[in-house]
Amino acid sequence: MTGPVILLLRRELRLADNAALAAAIASGCSVLPVFVLDDTSPGQWAAGGASRWWLHHSLQSLATDLAARGATLVLRRGAIDTEISRLAAEIGASAVHAGMPTEPWSRETYRGLRAALSVPLVVHQTSLLFHPDRIKTQAGTPYGVYTPFSRACLAQFPLAPPLPAPSRIDCYPGVQSDDLDSWDLRPTKPDWSHGLGAFWTPGEAGALARLATFLTDGVLDYAAKRDVPSVDGTSRLSPYLAWGEISPRQILHAVADHPARAKFISEILWREFAAGLLWHYQELPTDPLRREFTAMQWHDNPDALRAWQRGQTGIPLVDAGMRQLWQTGWMHNRVRMVVASFLVKHLLIPWQVGQAWFWDTLVDADLAQNAASWQWVAGCGADAAPYFRVFNPALQGARFDPDGAYVRRFVPELAGVADRFIHTPWLAPRPPRNYPAPIIDLATGRDRALAAFAALKKIAV
Ligand SMILES: Cc1cc2nc3c(=O)[nH]c(=O)nc-3n(C[C@H](O)[C@H](O)[C@H](O)COP(=O)(O)OP(=O)(O)OC[C@H]3O[C@@H](n4cnc5c(N)ncnc54)[C@H](O)[C@@H]3O)c2cc1C
Repeated sequence: MTGPVILLLRRELRLADNAALAAAIASGCSVLPVFVLDDTSPGQWAAGGASRWWLHHSLQSLATDLAARGATLVLRRGAIDTEISRLAAEIGASAVHAGMPTEPWSRETYRGLRAALSVPLVVHQTSLLFHPDRIKTQAGTPYGVYTPFSRACLAQFPLAPPLPAPSRIDCYPGVQSDDLDSWDLRPTKPDWSHGLGAFWTPGEAGALARLATFLTDGVLDYAAKRDVPSVDGTSRLSPYLAWGEISPRQILHAVADHPARAKFISEILWREFAAGLLWHYQELPTDPLRREFTAMQWHDNPDALRAWQRGQTGIPLVDAGMRQLWQTGWMHNRVRMVVASFLVKHLLIPWQVGQAWFWDTLVDADLAQNAASWQWVAGCGADAAPYFRVFNPALQGARFDPDGAYVRRFVPELAGVADRFIHTPWLAPRPPRNYPAPIIDLATGRDRALAAFAALKKIAV
């Protein structure tokens, strides 16, 4: 084969440890790196607002990194299968190299692409440590429980070392590209992205810098600090992983000799677990894994939903989390669990509604992680929190944000409230006037949730 090869980049926007890029170069042919903005094939799972902002900057960074190695990133807009098969015919490509598709829609699109191409489509594992079909029980079934799954993963360690970034790419020249700015990925009217820009540096260099900071400052205290939302106690690598600006193998390789790595590795394996769930249960983003939950009597409460989305519920930890999400495109994991529990349990609003809001507002929005986590909180997912576990946001606040440093940062209306009332300002002698009263009494909401979930259990029996 002598024609050029197409390198289809999607969620592996990096040069290092990129098996698809390495294989394209190893073919000995010239390489055409292409990104296709496909807003049709994913249906409701087209990239949300915060993800689009991230993508804009990530593509800019990738184009610069490729240019430094002599290559030009070609941008096209349309359905991936149509665009790539057209491009392959246009340049007489001899093969297409791509990362492994993981979402149901991308698997379907790649099947279409394979059928439309007259040359091979070669897919490579770029975003996961293990192919989901590799980690199975002795009976050959997917794991539904995390602990044995993680043990099976750890049995595969040590991992092969990550691939280095190429120093030079022989690029196929002269192919017309869209102008990134013409895609309007960044918000304009209004531009709500200032907080994101102040907080993040998308791209491969940003990912490596973040990893270096975490190795210096964070990993040692990770187990102790990972649940404290007011401190920088977690890696904040999730958006870089979601867009493939760093690979999980690079991260694990970097922490391999660290004495405090075990807890951190277990979180990376949760990511693999969620990816496996989506691989094996493609309806994960829409249907509860525990089928009895389809009978759940959810509430339609647009006012409560709006208060939750805007961080105006009157429950400090919930509001701080939702405002952190809006301002930075990210939320601390402990607080994600609390706000999600509040929505599906105290407010009885369907988990799919919360999932959709996260999809639009998170810079790390990832179909598998998001769906698996929402199902976990709702109690209908794999290895899920039991239905009777209703997080009390005031007690969670008192435990994980005892001095209210996190709440005060994101809910300035509460800055002057004494520590003792910071998570229950409605009990303070003089509650702040500019902060709402709780939209639901926590005890009443908990009882109502328990009754609804108990009724469901009876139906299941
Ligand atoms: C309701 C809800 C929705 C979520 N949606 C997403 C999402 O769309 N995208 C996403 O990447 N994560 C999601 N998470 C998981 C988790 O909150 C984030 O991965 C984590 O907060 C990212 O911060 P970090 O990179 O600092 O994590 P760290 O604590 O530094 O962990 C390192 C990496 O491990 C993985 N990880 C950590 N915690 C989890 C977890 N509980 N489940 C799966 N993987 C994990 C992530 O890839 C993370 O980057 C969600 C959690 C909840 C409760």
